[in-house]
Amino acid sequence: MVKHQKVQPAPHFVRLDLRKVINHPGYVAFAKFETDVQLWEDGQWVHVHGEASGTNVDGRYVLVKGKVFATVELECSRCLNVFEQELEANFEAECDIRTFHMLAEGLTVDEGEEITAIFDSNSADLWELSRQALVVQLPMRPLCHEDCKGLCPYCGTNLNEKTCNCQPPADPRWSALEVLMQRFKS
Ligand SMILES: [Zn+2]
Ligand SMILES: [Zn+2]
Repeated sequence: MVKHQKVQPAPHFVRLDLRKVINHPGYVAFAKFETDVQLWEDGQWVHVHGEASGTNVDGRYVLVKGKVFATVELECSRCLNVFEQELEANFEAECDIRTFHMLAEGLTVDEGEEITAIFDSNSADLWELSRQALVVQLPMRPLCHEDCKGLCPYCGTNLNEKTCNCQPPADPRWSALEVLMQRFKS
């Protein structure tokens, strides 16, 4: 039987309380959360909101699933303008019931840091789950618009805003050829 527990949204509630979940097979806990997350060390802080659930699966393990939303500031890889982009990410993590009991007793767990980065003896860290999920959503080459024209390589004008009169300089290889041609003509 699946029992449900409704948790009121609380700002800055960043750990999912799993105390009831751990001890009751079939039990599901829900939480809405909202907080500020730092995406990487010394990196950008972003305001995030999302929701998460923790389910006791057959008394064997706890499955934590959720979704997080954030608006991040990115620098366009072509025109270097800073722009805002909405990100949305899903996360999922699981931890054996036995592991929770080991953590409660202060024992070292086999799965090591991967588990302890997220779980402690009675909760899951929604801050860290959100951070990990958002970081992998960040684009490798951010673009302010798909058809961003970028900067002029000669004068640095932002070609999205105005045009410039720069001409690509003549390729020296071609001018050498031209000299050669002239020589043949004469
Ligand atoms: Zn751009
Ligand atoms: Zn130019």
